[in-house]
Amino acid sequence: MNIREFLNHLQNVKEVTGGCISKCPAHDDQKASLFISTGNNGRILLKCFAGCAVESIVKSLHLAMSDLFQKSVCLSYPPIQGVQVTKLGCTLKDYATVKKLNETFLKSLAIIERTYRGQTKEE
Ligand SMILES: [Zn+2]
Repeated sequence: MNIREFLNHLQNVKEVTGGCISKCPAHDDQKASLFISTGNNGRILLKCFAGCAVESIVKSLHLAMSDLFQKSVCLSYPPIQGVQVTKLGCTLKDYATVKKLNETFLKSLAIIERTYRGQTKEE
């Protein structure tokens, strides 16, 4: 999944410099201890300042570690034969409108539009 889908699983998500913070689902969080950002290839990075392991955070959300990686887009270039791009996504602007999010906010998460074989997809 991508970071926007991931953020839907969290509560009290707030935008901060370089990412988002939210209540950590893996411990009894009274303040927003969980920092969410993205790394290479849109991988979701999690950091709980109370020290929770990424595995426990993911488990608390009933997700798998593999959900932290984007699976819906082909990340290799050139594309591997037989690997299908299942979803081409939409433009950032469309996404922002649908999710009622601010496009500038999404851009601040380092979400950018890429074109692939002439088609626009998000990463
Ligand atoms: Zn925690």
